[in-house]
Amino acid sequence: MAKDKKSVVEATGVEHCKCAGCKKVSARFTFCEEHYEWFKFGLISKAGQKVSDFDRKQEHFMAYLAKQKQVAA
Ligand SMILES: [Zn+2]
Repeated sequence: MAKDKKSVVEATGVEHCKCAGCKKVSARFTFCEEHYEWFKFGLISKAGQKVSDFDRKQEHFMAYLAKQKQVAA
């Protein structure tokens, strides 16, 4: 995974990541960094619900991450 980026959270209006079961503070567009990636990749909907073919998409996502690491190395 990429290094954690500094998240700018204002003292007022702290929101938590919308993804079910996630306790992190939302950093971007109502998701935490990790789940924002999921959202971008189509693993979860805007509302934080897993999509119907989540398992298959997650496999693609993991393969994508593995590839990114190879490129970086
Ligand atoms: Zn999250």
